[in-house]
Amino acid sequence: MSQADWLEKDFYAALGVPADASADDIRKAYRTLARENHPDANPDDPRAEERFKAISEAYGILSDPAKRKEYDQIRQLAASGGLGGFRGFGQGRAPGGAGQAFDLNDLLGNLFGEQGAGQGFGQTFGGQGAAGARRRAGGARRGDDLNAEVTLSFEDALAGVTVTLRLTGSAVCSTCRGVGARPGTMPERCPRCSGAGVINENQGMFSFSQPCPQCAGRGEVITDPCPTCAGSGVEERPRTIKARLPSGVADGQTVRLKGKGSPGQGGGKPGDLFVKVHVDEHPVLRRRGDDLAMTVPVTFAEAALGANITVPTVEGSVTLKVPAGTESGRTLRVRGRGAPRSGGKGHGDLLVTVQVAVPAKLTKTQQKLVEDFAAMDDSNPRAHLEGLLAGGGAR
Ligand SMILES: [Zn+2]
Ligand SMILES: [Zn+2]
Repeated sequence: MSQADWLEKDFYAALGVPADASADDIRKAYRTLARENHPDANPDDPRAEERFKAISEAYGILSDPAKRKEYDQIRQLAASGGLGGFRGFGQGRAPGGAGQAFDLNDLLGNLFGEQGAGQGFGQTFGGQGAAGARRRAGGARRGDDLNAEVTLSFEDALAGVTVTLRLTGSAVCSTCRGVGARPGTMPERCPRCSGAGVINENQGMFSFSQPCPQCAGRGEVITDPCPTCAGSGVEERPRTIKARLPSGVADGQTVRLKGKGSPGQGGGKPGDLFVKVHVDEHPVLRRRGDDLAMTVPVTFAEAALGANITVPTVEGSVTLKVPAGTESGRTLRVRGRGAPRSGGKGHGDLLVTVQVAVPAKLTKTQQKLVEDFAAMDDSNPRAHLEGLLAGGGAR
């Protein structure tokens, strides 16, 4: 039996089971029917043998999961109109048939075998082969990639955020819903190929087909084009989409959102959306890769004596230990309190640069204490400059 016959047969009906029957139900139905219709059990009924063959054939396909899957795909495609001219050559393409999710050529290639596309195929299945050729002529086209830009607050960029983007790109025409004909009119059957989409040439016993040049294989021509899309069925129009941006995106980074671009045509995949991200500056925090950096003032006493200070961050505050004798400008690292790393692998660090704040005004008592301190302090912070530069380190 040829697999091409699958299109004509209802194996589920042959076994009297629904299309979603389990493997068990199929086996039971087959056993019962095979017993009832076995030729040996019906010596006087010449049609019993026919029925028995049909039952065996149906069971042969439906009991094999891979074959059953292929058979189901074919039936689905036929039911959705996607096979168009399959059931009767010359009926033309079903309107909107371009929306099929499968590549029919792939499916036909599977079903009829790689050699099926050659001569034997054209000879035996004439019009059915044409459907494949027509498909190829129309071709699935991947949707365009689109670009968008978005500006995020520093906090949103760290946390991840869902943004609403307004895009302009090709979409199915809203006036004609992709048909291409002026509303109220219909595409007409192509006069050259009578709606088949292919021109057949007979050479000896073989028949070869090629896409019809007049209708480009569509089987129909648009005599009164849609005013919005000029017959293309595709329109450039703005649309809004929501997109989730991952946590930790950095300024200048481009995020690729798979499948969020323009819709594909003829069953093609949608394109991707590339979102260029701008991140607002933060008054205090800076990004350094996965790390966050900030400068934190401390008093002279905290720097000299050491202290635990509280530092606010985007995600709550952290307590930072400033060791005794910390110089101004020293950077302390708080592990794991930076920006989220891409791929969800934890966080970078928070880098806190300490800046010793000098009081602008001192009370009389404070001034006296500092003077007493200075009198006792014989350190020379400029000692290292001597010898490197002219002049002595004066105090
Ligand atoms: Zn249109
Ligand atoms: Zn044509």
